[in-house]
Amino acid sequence: MLMDEKELKSLWKNILGHLTTKIPKSQFLTWFRTTEIAEINDNTMVVAVPTEIAFNNIAEKFLSPLKESVQEELPLIEHVRLLVDGSLYLQKKRSVDIVKISQMHTEELLEHNPAPQREERVYDDTPAVTEVLLIDGITSKVLNPKYRLDNFVVGPETQLAYAACSAVARAPGEAYNPLFIYGGVGLGKTHLLQGTGNEILKRYPKKRIVYVTSEKFMNELIEAIGNHKTEQLRKKYRNIDVLIVDDVQFLAQKQQTQIEFFHTFNELYQVKKQIILSSDRPPKELSQLEARLQSRFEWGMIVDVQMPDFETRCAILHSKCQDRGIILSNEVIEFIAHNVQSSIRELEGVLQQAIAQYELTHVTPTIKTIGPTLMKLNKNQRIVGYNSYSGPRTKATTVEDVMNVVGPFYHVTGEDILGETRKKEIVTARSVVMYIAKQDLSMTFERIGELLGGRLHSTVMHACNKVEKAMKKDENFKRDINGLRLELGLLS
Ligand code: ADP
Ligand code: MG
Repeated sequence: MLMDEKELKSLWKNILGHLTTKIPKSQFLTWFRTTEIAEINDNTMVVAVPTEIAFNNIAEKFLSPLKESVQEELPLIEHVRLLVDGSLYLQKKRSVDIVKISQMHTEELLEHNPAPQREERVYDDTPAVTEVLLIDGITSKVLNPKYRLDNFVVGPETQLAYAACSAVARAPGEAYNPLFIYGGVGLGKTHLLQGTGNEILKRYPKKRIVYVTSEKFMNELIEAIGNHKTEQLRKKYRNIDVLIVDDVQFLAQKQQTQIEFFHTFNELYQVKKQIILSSDRPPKELSQLEARLQSRFEWGMIVDVQMPDFETRCAILHSKCQDRGIILSNEVIEFIAHNVQSSIRELEGVLQQAIAQYELTHVTPTIKTIGPTLMKLNKNQRIVGYNSYSGPRTKATTVEDVMNVVGPFYHVTGEDILGETRKKEIVTARSVVMYIAKQDLSMTFERIGELLGGRLHSTVMHACNKVEKAMKKDENFKRDINGLRLELGLLS
């Protein structure tokens, strides 16, 4: 179908108009920003989205309402495909104003209650990598300038990986080869890999760097085989200085891709070209991988990344807010950091929704407005600092205040805490009350003992020490304590 840019844009506007009535507004604003129609071929529409996050979210949750919306405009379209195009990002001025669209429809729905007028804000979320055409239809991914080593917030859990990346960036091919980074989803592997690539480019602008996911590598190979262009593909990979392969776990089971990759690896390695790899698990656990490839992955440096601690999570949120030019209160940042523990990607997702909420309602996000988002995410978890939250918090000043919050959290009563029972959860609650009274209310051990049913100074001291030790060992326990302190208004 031939359409010019203007026609495509107006078609997209109409489609988004249908979509906004089908999905939650905040989701619409979060994920369909700076999207556009990339092409329409026969019965397929390809929609370009600016980030990998948007790609994943739309693919997971909104593909069928999107398709319905497309079909309302073009009934002959049978398939809707998505594509990540990081460059959309830079041309956001040109894209459809989705806030306006969502408002238009809100106004239609709520004629007597129009949404507040709002001005356009510059919005920045993390763009993914751009697809570029390299050789005759063989696509690869280029480095995304947004991922840099200097905007990677380093914490104890990522320190080693970060140091290894920096060393590789200073002396590619010499420091650690290959560099193998592993860890769970959304913990910063891609960021580190791309950041290292960008840093190498900054220091050595002439180096040829290829960043590719192992799936992409495989697809390129399959395509090249189909088009009889394997020679060209080999040449491309053998002529580079730095090869970055993300998510090598997907190479498992793909026999032919492994063999091809094995040869590429060897050739690059022999001439001291840098190879950087990531995976969701260490090489020895990549059980489906050929032994010779597995052992090669172990030749250089292997480092892991783990979920950052609470302080680092706060620092990451602060840094992302700064990047996007928005200000969230410390209270809100800590609330998010406390309650999102699975990945930094999820942390960013919550932040993204908070921003969308703000743009929609023009009301600064608070714990109250973000709480429901978090509850949806962590279905099986207690959300610390929300359930009993009502309005601005008053600071706890007495042992009773502390007991009133700590007791219900552990499902024990004030009487239990004051009494003599040695049941586990009661002892825990009691010790936590003592600890917080000591730590935050600056009471003496004697005074705490007196107030808590006439206990000995040494008993209180012992309990406080135990809590302190447990917090060092157990990240979840620490999170609970800090969550309680937050709820008590004791963390600034
Ligand atoms: P992975 O590849 O391990 O699944 P990503 O590198 O895609 O994870 O990270 C997910 C998101 O979190 C990215 O937007 C990334 O920029 C961000 N991120 C992860 N760790 C950090 C960090 N330590 N500092 C800043 N941003 C981070
Ligand atoms: Mg990744």
